Amino acid sequence: MIKRLTIALVAHDAMKHDLAEWVAWNWEKLLSHRLICTGTTGRIVTETIMSSKKAEMSNTRFDITMLKSGPLGGDQQLGAMIANEEIDMLIFFWDPMSAQPHDVDVKALLRLATLYNVPTAINRSTADFMISSALLASADYKPVIKDYTSYIKRIV
Ligand code: PGA
Repeated sequence: MIKRLTIALVAHDAMKHDLAEWVAWNWEKLLSHRLICTGTTGRIVTETIMSSKKAEMSNTRFDITMLKSGPLGGDQQLGAMIANEEIDMLIFFWDPMSAQPHDVDVKALLRLATLYNVPTAINRSTADFMISSALLASADYKPVIKDYTSYIKRIV
């Protein structure tokens, strides 16, 4: 049985079309999980799932939480959730071709995802592998989080 995870979805504007296509392809799998999105990405994800559901005439409910828009603090809200160990997977289609007004927030989000060993897809092919992973069904798989006790107790 698939474990219910909390999956964060974020896409920069130039990548939202790609994420919408990916969601349209994977909407049934995504319905088993709790989704957390930055604001505008959340709107696109909702519209995509709603139209896919309609196409399939399904009445399955889905669980989505929309944070603030990324440049307005949404990436930071998501980063806080990662630091609280509330996120199991991050799908983040960041735009490699344009500068972002909230570049520092993007960097911070990716840093925290790395620090907390959150499985992170930064492109579609990785997202495909992650959403199809056999580990989604493994009840006892838990990403290892490094022990930072000695850092916390360091003499300063
Ligand atoms: P958005 O934010 O979903 O509100 O567009 C994306 C981002 O973090 O850049």
